[in-house]
Amino acid sequence: MKFVAIDFETADYKRDSACAIGIVKVENNVIKKRIHFLIRPPREEMIFSYLHGIYWNDVKDQPTFAELWPDIKHYFHNIDFIAAHNASFDRSVLKACCDSAGFELPATEFRCTMKLSRELWNIHPTKLNNVCDHFNIQLDHHNVVSDTDACAQIMMKALEDVDEPKEENMQKVNINEDSGIRMWSLGSSSGGNSTLIWDDEKTIMIDCGFSRLYMNEQLSRIGKKLDDIDAVLITHIHNDHINQALLNKFIKDKIPLYCHINLANDLKKKFESARRLNKIGMLHLITDAPFEIGNFKITAFGVPHDSSGGCFGYKIISDTPAGKKQISMATDIGYVYEGMEEHFLESDILMVESNHDIDMLDNSRRSDVLKDRIKEIGHLSNEECSELLHTILSKSSKIPNVIFLSHISKECNTRDLALDVNKNYLSENGFENLNIIPLLPTPMENVFNL
Ligand SMILES: [Zn+2]
Ligand SMILES: [Zn+2]
Repeated sequence: MKFVAIDFETADYKRDSACAIGIVKVENNVIKKRIHFLIRPPREEMIFSYLHGIYWNDVKDQPTFAELWPDIKHYFHNIDFIAAHNASFDRSVLKACCDSAGFELPATEFRCTMKLSRELWNIHPTKLNNVCDHFNIQLDHHNVVSDTDACAQIMMKALEDVDEPKEENMQKVNINEDSGIRMWSLGSSSGGNSTLIWDDEKTIMIDCGFSRLYMNEQLSRIGKKLDDIDAVLITHIHNDHINQALLNKFIKDKIPLYCHINLANDLKKKFESARRLNKIGMLHLITDAPFEIGNFKITAFGVPHDSSGGCFGYKIISDTPAGKKQISMATDIGYVYEGMEEHFLESDILMVESNHDIDMLDNSRRSDVLKDRIKEIGHLSNEECSELLHTILSKSSKIPNVIFLSHISKECNTRDLALDVNKNYLSENGFENLNIIPLLPTPMENVFNL
């Protein structure tokens, strides 16, 4: 059995930005060669220097991928497979680099030691450091030499552990295409909001308005942990969307936080830990322009809501083997402005707010000032939500697989009422049999697969 383990480090979110590659060649479970190269990425900005410690000065005089590949491509041929930890990432980096340099991606199949660790040994979470801890493999995480070596050692353990025939087990860990998108709400209400979206490669969290204890407990139900998260995006700075203690955990786990540039000052003013994130380069400020995290192309768009710095929804698009998929979401919406529906058109998953029932709000013990604020700039009523949904659906050429109703008020609404008002209005206006799910303050029972 011959294989090479590889590991890429990238400079930015684009797949063609490899700045280092490690290669470990293994024959009959003996390491024959360890080799690594620095690569000059196509762009000067090095977003991930804080992770891998490789800076522009280190790579600016190194060969580009196009220059390097002819010297290293022989490692990828005449072997049984290529191993990588989270192979869909390394495969997509190699593919993007080959594509942009005009080379063919080697036909050799990839096998993922991350999937392998779950399938064979039931290790969760399954990041490289977790698996290395499990096996006492020495690791200097994000050092390309160490990461590649660790991946090779994990694969060697698998080859030792698994009895013949190995093929059946191995088939499960082949990565020859990317799979779909999954989504899970950890809860949505004024008590806290957080949504997880992930594919085989990246896990992103939209808002983090729960305690660390709650997050850990709930995430473990779907076999995830906080340090599985690759990026956290926030919609606005209200406490039901950001938890200060959780931000400290993100700093510790090196999980970057993304927020719209308009929110930056208010975010830093309110949260000491956001200032720390900013200082160490882990607060990423985004604009209205699309940006990428793994396969996800993300665009933030402004929505009205009474929060300083503003409030943002997200449109998240991914090209999957089943075609282009889109999630559009806004958890808090003060009112619907003209043209707002444009951000939600052609979605496969929609999430919009259906906060309150007008009568229940009027009859609640809240002050008139608060009632007016909620109605005018705070949150959408069930009726307003259904009208917004109607406009979105009327202008879209497809029906979403699911519509999630977010931020349902505990005091001034019920799940049943929100569902009824929206369902009835939409079916009276030509949209019957929609899959509408009102979100709970607690997590969704099942992960939604797109
Ligand atoms: Zn909120
Ligand atoms: Zn809010």
